[in-house]
Amino acid sequence: MAIPGEQPFNPQATATPGPQEQQVRILVVDDDVSLRSTFAQILARPGRTFSTCGSVAEGIALLAEGVYDLILLDYRLPDGTGLAVLDWLVEHGREEVVIIISGENDVDAVIGALRRGADDYLRKPYHIAQLQRAIESALHKAALEHANRAMGQRLKASEKLHRYLVESSPDLIFTLDAEGRFSYLNPRVKALLGFERGVLMRRPFTTLVMPEDVDRICGLLSLPSTMPGESFSVELRLRRNRNDLVPVESDHVTVSLTGIPMLSQQGERRVTGLYGVARDISERKRAEEIISFQAYHDQLTHLPNRVLFKDRLELAIAQAQRRTGALAVMFIDVDRFKLVNDTYGHAEGDLLLRAIASRLSASLRRGDTLARLGGDEFTALLPDINQPEDAETIARKIVAALSEPIKLSEGEFRATVSIGIALYPRDGSTAEDLTRHADIAMYQVKRSGKNAFRFFDPKLNTHHRERIALENDLHLALERGELELYYQPQISMTQQRVIGMEALLRWNHPELGSVPPATFIPVAEEVGLIGDISRWVLNTACAQLASWRRAGHTGVKLSLNLSPHDFDHRDIVRSIIDCLAQYALPPDQVELEITESMMMNDSAGVATKVRQLREAGVGVAIDDFGTGYSALAYLQKFPVSTLKIDRSFVRELDVAMTNPIISAITGIARGFNLHLVAEGVERPEQADALRALGCDVMQGYLFARPSSAVEAEVWLRQAPTHCMN
Ligand code: C2E
Ligand code: MG
Ligand code: MG
Repeated sequence: MAIPGEQPFNPQATATPGPQEQQVRILVVDDDVSLRSTFAQILARPGRTFSTCGSVAEGIALLAEGVYDLILLDYRLPDGTGLAVLDWLVEHGREEVVIIISGENDVDAVIGALRRGADDYLRKPYHIAQLQRAIESALHKAALEHANRAMGQRLKASEKLHRYLVESSPDLIFTLDAEGRFSYLNPRVKALLGFERGVLMRRPFTTLVMPEDVDRICGLLSLPSTMPGESFSVELRLRRNRNDLVPVESDHVTVSLTGIPMLSQQGERRVTGLYGVARDISERKRAEEIISFQAYHDQLTHLPNRVLFKDRLELAIAQAQRRTGALAVMFIDVDRFKLVNDTYGHAEGDLLLRAIASRLSASLRRGDTLARLGGDEFTALLPDINQPEDAETIARKIVAALSEPIKLSEGEFRATVSIGIALYPRDGSTAEDLTRHADIAMYQVKRSGKNAFRFFDPKLNTHHRERIALENDLHLALERGELELYYQPQISMTQQRVIGMEALLRWNHPELGSVPPATFIPVAEEVGLIGDISRWVLNTACAQLASWRRAGHTGVKLSLNLSPHDFDHRDIVRSIIDCLAQYALPPDQVELEITESMMMNDSAGVATKVRQLREAGVGVAIDDFGTGYSALAYLQKFPVSTLKIDRSFVRELDVAMTNPIISAITGIARGFNLHLVAEGVERPEQADALRALGCDVMQGYLFARPSSAVEAEVWLRQAPTHCMN
């Protein structure tokens, strides 16, 4: 950790100990041998050591080898004068204390020696006490100088330490003068804000403060009002130098600034400036923002989450209460979202949710809150509602906004949503009630065909509870063996025999009795039980057909109803074919009924699966044909084998003996070479009219109601004519 341009700093380094704290080394340079030895004897003390020599050359040689504390230097020496030794000492920056010993005639020389740095002198002859005094005083002086030097070194080290601490601080450290102008800035300002410190010196501190924060800081900085000794801490934004070459992502840095007034050294304790430490807290701020954003927002769509929605709703309710206003809560659920998720995986599902979230947001107004509760559930808070129609307008806007297909990487998807709406104060006065009631209304939309909106109706509440009970029971229905297949014959009028049986599911509920499929199939689809149920239906029906075939009824076909959800599974075709193989059924004796809506929303690759089934020889019928938006184009894309005329058209035959839709459908069937079955034939007149229109195969109460397998077998054994009038 070196300070640029300086020696590596070592705060532990201390000054060397002085002569009194350790050994005292004395060098005697004198050509008088006897004098040299008497010196050593007279001056001996504990801790003192002596070196002796008799010439300039020897003296310098000894000095070159080691350091001494004191030199007793004879002026006259055989090879020169003591001055030569003094010169050497000066040249080498030595600090030994020197006492010159000179003869009586050498006064001028002594003066010269003192000028050259000798510390004292003794004139020969001298008294021994004089010598001792001179030595004591020289050593004392040396000790003082040493202590001084050590102190200076310590001071220097301490100053160096403090300067190091300030200059290399990760915080911005500065001082301001009494006018609030910079009088010192540490180099950190360059890295933090991109300014050269020289540029800022003598400039007001406010030059660095973002305009929005200037007023706030000015109050704190007006020094006369700052109480002596009263420090302050404040968070503020400091400007970054835009001209700085380093690109910066933000134009400011958020700092936590601590200001401490500096007081004059004199007694009056006047504030003379300010000492400030500013710590960069931008990272912490960002982290705090992210954490609080994550706590209140949904990660995927970045919309507010349940917590934030509830908070805003409660606030909006309180405001509406105050101004006796109204507000609306929408519960928005994506229809058949599971389909995308299961078929294409979560990445596509996420993509779809994001796209839906952005369409929903675009349909709302400023001030409305859209939130994602999780999964495919969204809620919207519309705080500015004057009448229910306002919410209706927005609901329509949402439905319209979703009518354009959404592009996913696997192709386009036409998303629809079911929207339930609850109004404050009509439908509830708490956030919980309003959200729950909007949810109930949304469920009602789901039950009645999805892709629409509906206002909460208190009657829905009881339905809702019933539904939840049904849901719970349905989970147990399969394991308790409460499901049963009924069969309804399909009769060929020309052949006068039963040519097919449609398997129709029944739920024998322990308390409710026989529950019709229209009631529980949508629930099973929603709660994800439909897969298990369909597998059971497929298996049971195939086993039944196999048993009939063994009994000799080989000319009868089996029709099965499949849920759109069954086509979400990649392996649906395989499981059907495997099941047929397991019961050794000829594929062309089984027909699967699918609905028109499945063809329209081909996101699960229904067309491919239909084609695969057809290629395997399995029949595919379009159930309730004519009720959807069947286009001829679909029939080209979906190579189905049968069309089933919906019973609503058959009913219309009561009014007129002919029906343009039925004749169109018979025409289509002929054109595409498809089988045709009329459903819901209840009256002989209907049967006659259908025959006249070219429809031969019929199914309906006129011939037989759906009945248990045992009863249905009776129809197989009997000619159907007896039930026809
Ligand atoms: P769907 O496939 O169109 O079945 C025909 C419905 O019309 C049956 O109602 C049948 O009982 C009824 N029906 C038959 N003849 C007449 C008649 O002459 N007059 C009147 N008014 N109705 C007649 P069901 O059994 O209640 O089934 C209703 C729907 O539930 C079925 O419509 C089908 O879409 C669905 N469904 C039935 N079984 C299953 C199943 O195993 N799986 C699936 N996914 N859906 C099923
Ligand atoms: Mg059917
Ligand atoms: Mg039908």
